[in-house]
Amino acid sequence: ATVLIIGNGGREHAIAKAMLASPQVDTVICAPGNPGMQRDGIQTVAIDELDFDGLATLARQQMVSLTFVGPEVPLAAGIVDYFQAAGLAIFGPRQATAQLESSKLFAKDFMSRYQIPTADYQVFHDLASAQAYSQTAALPQVIKVDGLAAGKGVTVATTLVQTEQALVAAFATTDTVLIEGFMAGFEFSQMVLVGGDNYVLLPTAQDHKRLQDGDLGPNTGGMGAYSPVPQITPAIVQTTIQTIIEPTLCGLKAEGLSFEGILYVGGILTAQGVQVIEYNLRLGDPETQILLPQLQGDFYQLILDLLQHRQPTVSWQKSETYLGVVLAAPGYPNMPETHVPVPTLAGADYASVAGTPDHLVSVGGRVMMVTAKAATLAAAQTAVYRQLTQLSTGRLIYRHDIGDKGLQN
Ligand code: ATP
Repeated sequence: ATVLIIGNGGREHAIAKAMLASPQVDTVICAPGNPGMQRDGIQTVAIDELDFDGLATLARQQMVSLTFVGPEVPLAAGIVDYFQAAGLAIFGPRQATAQLESSKLFAKDFMSRYQIPTADYQVFHDLASAQAYSQTAALPQVIKVDGLAAGKGVTVATTLVQTEQALVAAFATTDTVLIEGFMAGFEFSQMVLVGGDNYVLLPTAQDHKRLQDGDLGPNTGGMGAYSPVPQITPAIVQTTIQTIIEPTLCGLKAEGLSFEGILYVGGILTAQGVQVIEYNLRLGDPETQILLPQLQGDFYQLILDLLQHRQPTVSWQKSETYLGVVLAAPGYPNMPETHVPVPTLAGADYASVAGTPDHLVSVGGRVMMVTAKAATLAAAQTAVYRQLTQLSTGRLIYRHDIGDKGLQN
């Protein structure tokens, strides 16, 4: 079979490798992909992720039997509706369901309707009333722009001066802003592969969103991840299923928004239990790169089963921890430098790179991820950082503490 993956990052590189590992799959095409993927025998075609007509034409011409969407932007723009209308098999939510990620207001109202635990929130459509409310609300406060913002739409303000600045900046770009209460706790990612009423739980993972060691610096797309997360015990996973995942899937069904795709719960373990920070309707990047290698079985068949509403039979490895560190171009996230050399390494997942498969250079922020697995989290961390010291990373930047939070207890 031939599979089409939409997107161009490390997540899509990992999805493509998982598909290629299926005995049923002989060809994986990634659009637009990147030249680093070609090192693993993945074909790339320069079609933009928002060129639905171009992508559907490619799918027909190449007799693609399954299309898998990586990023949120084409989902929010309705790629699944477009492919389904054209009679093409595609894994992902329709536009109406993708609102759970693309509109923070939709998500908060949805959680409120189904009593799904999350921070309190207020919605504002003008600066003056938001300012008035913020004076009366407790600090820290979390200011969120409604709509997709690639990780840049959220400010955690610890002073009213920061709130004020965030509100002014937010209303300069949108007319819908949320002010949320602050949840203190341990963040983790719980993803579920969904096919109507059936679903498959992925192992727990933890992303590292801040640029610098010790969770300092600006938010990024994610600088590294590990899985499973020792603090998130099977009992906590059970609670997450009962209080968040099942109510979410039931609520979506009740509203006619059932889907085949991914439900990503950005969770936080607080003194009040597990709460939701955000939903995503696609796999996380960088978590995917350390989650999919843990699958024992046929990823292509798993997705086909979910699309056809059969409960898949799969298992995940249980004996090792997987850990990955993202390398980014200097200047990321604000002004990543281009043309910075990016090393080649077997097993790495490539992202914003151009050039040829043997001479890669940066064209954006995150360029590659290096991963390792070992019997313990500490050993996986040591193994990744040993690989990184042996690699010619040149001027690329990366964090040196990925996994530390999992080691503190
Ligand atoms: P992404 O790029 O992953 O979609 P986003 O822009 O949608 O991110 P969120 O994930 O909602 O933003 O928030 C980013 C970060 O801000 C979270 O990882 C968390 O650390 C912090 N955060 C957001 N909301 C809250 C909250 N209510 N309480 C405490 N921290 C929060």
